[in-house]
Amino acid sequence: MPFVPVDVLLKRAEEGQYAVGAFNCNNMEIVQAIVAAAEAERAPVILQASQGAIKYAGLDFIVAMARQAAEKASVPVALHLDHGTSFAQVMQCIRAGFSSVMIDGSKLPLEENIALTRQVLAVARAVGVSVEAELGKIGGTEDDISVADWEAMLTDPEEARYFVEQTGVDSLAIAIGTAHGRYKGEPRLDFDRLARVRSLVQVPIVLHGSSGVPDEAIRRAIALGVRKVNIDTNIREAFVAAARRVVDAHPEEIDPRKILGPAREAATEIIREKIRLFGSSGKA
Ligand SMILES: [Zn+2]
Repeated sequence: MPFVPVDVLLKRAEEGQYAVGAFNCNNMEIVQAIVAAAEAERAPVILQASQGAIKYAGLDFIVAMARQAAEKASVPVALHLDHGTSFAQVMQCIRAGFSSVMIDGSKLPLEENIALTRQVLAVARAVGVSVEAELGKIGGTEDDISVADWEAMLTDPEEARYFVEQTGVDSLAIAIGTAHGRYKGEPRLDFDRLARVRSLVQVPIVLHGSSGVPDEAIRRAIALGVRKVNIDTNIREAFVAAARRVVDAHPEEIDPRKILGPAREAATEIIREKIRLFGSSGKA
């Protein structure tokens, strides 16, 4: 089937009180792993492309691979732009066929973030594409910051209410202590902040940097209103570890399929685990 807009999937997730997994893809094996996992779990799923993925594979290749996978799939599949950087890039992705985009104006002053998000929404609405925005700063795990700076990066609940009122955005990514990449220690999540945002904001909440967050914390975040959970690092880890096992065990192996095939299977397995954790298994 054709790509489904993310807001359709998140509305159902809100009704069912679960979260939809959004998995980053940048090559054929990972696209196939994501859709195979979703089919095996009978779950709706979001394929997402980051800036790095677009740079690596090329926008047209990503769309073509994702479209091929979605058209054959027996479950709803969305194609989403992760951390869109500009109005121009978002338009390029909408034209290319994405069913959902994120416009990340989180580094801008609040009013500029609102203006940019509104500009994107004006076009996206007209063509049935969903829009995710970000408020607060979701850092990288490599960022070495003080507690005061850390607090300052987190999403202000009142600001979130104002932002959603002013924009009418479909979903909102918030900063509650998660980070992109591999965590050094255990991530600290500010659940009180999430609960306050949730009490003031009616749209689905998106959790970025969710790889490495303990299962219990993910369950709690979903219970508090998170409806889209982004996973990238966990897939990379599983994929590369499996490829490395083959290369280590068989240094003479020269067939890429013998190396990438097991990597694809390992990715499928970890994605299935995440889908079950998010409660979206059986919801397709
Ligand atoms: Zn992110």
